[in-house]
Amino acid sequence: MGIFLLTVALGETNLLEPDKGFMIMVHYKELGLVNTKGLFKEAMKGEYAIPAFNFNNLEQLQAIVGACIETRSPVILQVSKGAREYANQTLLQYMAKGSVEVARESGYAIPIVLHLDHGDSFDLVKSCIETGFSSVMIDGSHLPYEENIKLTRQVVDFSHEYDVSVEGELGVLSGIEDDVSSEHTHYTKPEEVEDFVKRTGVDSLAISIGTSHGAYKFKVKLGECPPPLRFDILEDVGRRIPGFPIVLHGASSIPQNIVDQINKYGGKLENTAGISEDQLRRAAKSAVCKINIDSDGRLAVTAAIRKVFYEKPNEFDPRKYLGPARDSLKELYKHKIINVLGSNDKA
Ligand SMILES: [Zn+2]
Repeated sequence: MGIFLLTVALGETNLLEPDKGFMIMVHYKELGLVNTKGLFKEAMKGEYAIPAFNFNNLEQLQAIVGACIETRSPVILQVSKGAREYANQTLLQYMAKGSVEVARESGYAIPIVLHLDHGDSFDLVKSCIETGFSSVMIDGSHLPYEENIKLTRQVVDFSHEYDVSVEGELGVLSGIEDDVSSEHTHYTKPEEVEDFVKRTGVDSLAISIGTSHGAYKFKVKLGECPPPLRFDILEDVGRRIPGFPIVLHGASSIPQNIVDQINKYGGKLENTAGISEDQLRRAAKSAVCKINIDSDGRLAVTAAIRKVFYEKPNEFDPRKYLGPARDSLKELYKHKIINVLGSNDKA
């Protein structure tokens, strides 16, 4: 494939800058994607949150796009560094383009964002932008404050040249998800947010108020509830940077009925707990404009596949177990969109 020269009008943006030693291979606008800026503005005004669902294979993407078209919801397709390595970058890029086409064909051209989840270096961000991402996260939350600012600023300067939106992070979530892990929660310090946003130029900010990565969010005994989200921190942040889009990571609820189904059909998940949907609904109505849900989807897929394997041990056509997994994932996402995020009928 030769170098792809962009012909879409992009104002002052120059996409081919050999002097700087890089070239954009495919710009996201050429794929029919959008960045997050307009979506977050609407979400802030309308008091809902845009769903950010992770994907790395065909069935996940079918479930996400199908659920969002049916509910008329804008969507952020998230790809982690691990997913990019797993699925192949070129394939992912054309899958994202394919989902734009599928939405158009359906008659409901919902806005679709292709977002890098937990970018950990400038080079990774650059490579994603060169291959069609419309939004990136740079996660410098584990770095000392000044280093986080420096890295984030570098990413913002590059990304904004291509009209790509950037999510930064302050505070650290506990839990494990792909390459990201931390044993303890470090809540976001509200006194840092104004300075961080001003000096980095980010378009949105992920904060830590008690959500957590993975299916084992909290060490809870049977019948115990995990600690509630720190809405006091969220409100304090909102006062310091009014109208600024906030992002919640690790916002799965780990539904007990899905965990029970996994265990009923041979799985072994113990002491799992998540964030209650009531709390997430409350967050979605505030300055939180993007809510990341990944683990609940992983659980739904696993539960559906386990059920088929258990009930039909002679089945060996992948469509017969991946199909039900996809259907169950789609139902889960529709539920999240309508009952938790409130992003239905906003596309
Ligand atoms: Zn995350």
